[in-house]
Amino acid sequence: MKAVVLKRGREKSLMRRHPWIFSGAIARVEGKPRRGETVDILAAEGAVLARGSYSPASQITVRVWTFDPQEDVSPEFFHGRLERAIDSRRALIADEGPHGVRLVNAESDALPGIIVDRYAEFIAVQFLTAGAEYWKGAVVGELSRLMGVSGIYERSDADVREKEDLPKLAGVLAGREPPDLVEIREGPCRYLVDLKRGHKTGFYLDQRENRGMMGEFARGADVLNCFSYTGGFGIAALHAGAARVTNVDSSASALELARKNAELNGLDASSLEYVEGDVFTVMRRWRDAGRCFDLIVLDPPKFAESQSQLMRASRGYKDINLLAFKLLSRGGTLFTFSCSGLVSAELFQKIVADAALDAGREAQIVRRLAQASDHPTLLSFPEGAYLKGLICRVG
Ligand code: SAH
Repeated sequence: MKAVVLKRGREKSLMRRHPWIFSGAIARVEGKPRRGETVDILAAEGAVLARGSYSPASQITVRVWTFDPQEDVSPEFFHGRLERAIDSRRALIADEGPHGVRLVNAESDALPGIIVDRYAEFIAVQFLTAGAEYWKGAVVGELSRLMGVSGIYERSDADVREKEDLPKLAGVLAGREPPDLVEIREGPCRYLVDLKRGHKTGFYLDQRENRGMMGEFARGADVLNCFSYTGGFGIAALHAGAARVTNVDSSASALELARKNAELNGLDASSLEYVEGDVFTVMRRWRDAGRCFDLIVLDPPKFAESQSQLMRASRGYKDINLLAFKLLSRGGTLFTFSCSGLVSAELFQKIVADAALDAGREAQIVRRLAQASDHPTLLSFPEGAYLKGLICRVG
């Protein structure tokens, strides 16, 4: 059997069921495994601890498929894992509505590198690691058997594939090609999703529950939706009775789809404004002009991709939060997020606290937010918890 043998004492994280083995923990590789192939993982003393996929190009050289060394990694294995992940979302997909729901959340569903998102009758998938790529055919086959869908579309065009030395890929894997826009429903909101070209697999499903929080806070508010993408938080705010929404994003195509989404929801166009530009610049301009808002959403892209970017990322978060505190009217509400896994919840809260202090505003946390329940975090894999947010009320 092909195998990796760990250095003495380096099996500790594995014993705690963490699914990653870094290159530095490996003493030697036996049997010349090919990229993506399944290997046994052996302790220095020789005991087989687990089985995983081999990725020679990545710092994360092995990702565990199973902690049971007797278990075969085969199409049946993927059938079982996929079925378990889908079953655990049964409550979310119980009604027949056109959902947007994450069915498989990679490591946290014990399927490292595999993301499966369902948008109405279509499925978008990502195979982000060598092991996931290796088993793509089996995964797509089992998914087709498990879910009655019209088509499965691959969105393996994420940058992380480069770390695995895999090319970026996108296209139909099974069934029909999805139309350019697929409609989903989220509570009272309807959204068009560009699953072939949009960010990630087309939509920020991880913010579903947080968009839902607009119901409690947006009534009557003049809302500033920063980093709006296709308008998600803004549309949820208007459904919740907001007076006005201003969407700011640097992407013209995202704003164009935001307009279509507003129309689809039958919202009054005069209550919406779209600003194409850099959030930092736009907010600074409005601060200088003395403009203010009752509710501000800050949902920026990932500022920290690596440890070396952490300082710069922290300054970025501080800047936008400081500007937001300056732009908030008395008694206003801030929804502020970070999706950088490297920025811990504690660090993020500290940055937001510093921003309020510098802005001279007193603020309370009224709620802590995280990614939606279909993006679970395996307890033994805390890295899975990347999205954190705070709802703050200023005095
Ligand atoms: N809140 C959205 C998701 C936001 S994703 C939702 O719930 O759907 C982040 C968005 O920020 C992207 O649309 C990207 O185009 C935009 N963006 C990134 N950097 C920006 C900048 N400096 N100024 C304005 N928009 C930016």
